[in-house]
Amino acid sequence: MDAITRRTFIAGSAAGLVAGLPTFGNASPELQEPTAAKPAGDKVGWAILGLGGYAMGQILPNLKACERSRLVAVISGDRDKAKRVAGQYGLDQAKGVYTYDEMDRIKDNPEIQVVYVITPPGNHREFTERAAKAGKHVCCEKPMAPSVADCQAMIDACKKAGVLLQIGYRSHYEANNLRAMEACRKELGQIRSVTSDHGFNIGRGLWRTQKKWSGGGSMMDIGIYAVQALRYLSGEEPTEVYATWTNPPNDDRFKEVEDTVSFTLKFPSGAVGTGTSGYSWSRGVNRYMALGTNGRVDAEPATSYGGNTLRINYRPAEVTPNNQFAAQMDHLSECIQDKKVVRTPGEMGLQDIRIIQAIYDSCRTGRPVKL
Ligand code: NAD
Repeated sequence: MDAITRRTFIAGSAAGLVAGLPTFGNASPELQEPTAAKPAGDKVGWAILGLGGYAMGQILPNLKACERSRLVAVISGDRDKAKRVAGQYGLDQAKGVYTYDEMDRIKDNPEIQVVYVITPPGNHREFTERAAKAGKHVCCEKPMAPSVADCQAMIDACKKAGVLLQIGYRSHYEANNLRAMEACRKELGQIRSVTSDHGFNIGRGLWRTQKKWSGGGSMMDIGIYAVQALRYLSGEEPTEVYATWTNPPNDDRFKEVEDTVSFTLKFPSGAVGTGTSGYSWSRGVNRYMALGTNGRVDAEPATSYGGNTLRINYRPAEVTPNNQFAAQMDHLSECIQDKKVVRTPGEMGLQDIRIIQAIYDSCRTGRPVKL
């Protein structure tokens, strides 16, 4: 490992790893020094909106590991739950608890600088617009929203309010994925092929299988990681999409949304991206492989919460694991404090929805769709 690689990968935060990596939408990542520790009072105040599985299991616990971010409020549809969680995390019950109905009052609470929206995609737009209107920066979970029009409205609302918008693409802050991107840019020669598979076995009666709240099935929820991997490993934007899907007819999980999708993305260089996404696979899968003229990268698991592995030219990559959740949140805090460019902005989220919508169009028509 050379000195630069070692310095950046050993840092607890992955913020210094973006030089030379692809740009998405209007944002151009710049070389950024690793996040420095800040005293508690200097940390950016975050409000967590939506206290479901991901917020409770990953985001709230990992906020404690942040160097520039601290929890100051929770916003939930359930006041009792919000109070309970506020108590658990030592928040002020008067200033740190809001219901969705009351959330517009956050404009009067200067401690809240960021609202992290962690609800089903069907209300990401509403909550993002309300947070922006209250003058708060927004981190919004993936998928950004059900439609391109919703995504554009979210970007516009944040621009109008003069606040930053980050999409919760944690892989862009995770050390193995960052090393894989670097290898693709610098060590693999011309990338010819990238493949990625993401799926699991979905339960019954969840918002994830209700189109109004999910915006779609496996592609929106988990296939989006494969689309992301094809984009960040190739470093290119697709110009054409071709896709097919399989929807088991007698499975009530797939009345409104799709199950398995197989898709191909054509990139301008001639590189080909292929991916699959599924909601009925017996075991969870998340993996990718990039093949170039000078080498390859392989990762499985590639995008898990922990325990990701990476091989470069068949050898295990030397990567020090980091806390991707804390790195993601600290990155937005750093952008706020030091006026930097957000690495995973709304434009990146919108582009994924544009690609997924083209994948759906191709599945429906049986034809390639140009982007
Ligand atoms: P969940 O069902 O566990 O929690 C959803 C939360 O939203 C609950 O607190 C629920 O009360 C609230 N909510 C608000 N409006 C709702 C509605 N109309 N229907 C149902 N719930 C509603 O879901 P989750 O797994 O925490 O997912 C939430 C968001 O986080 C989604 O956008 C999901 O894609 C994303 N997510 C991201 C990751 C990641 O690794 N980045 C992992 C899991 C989930």
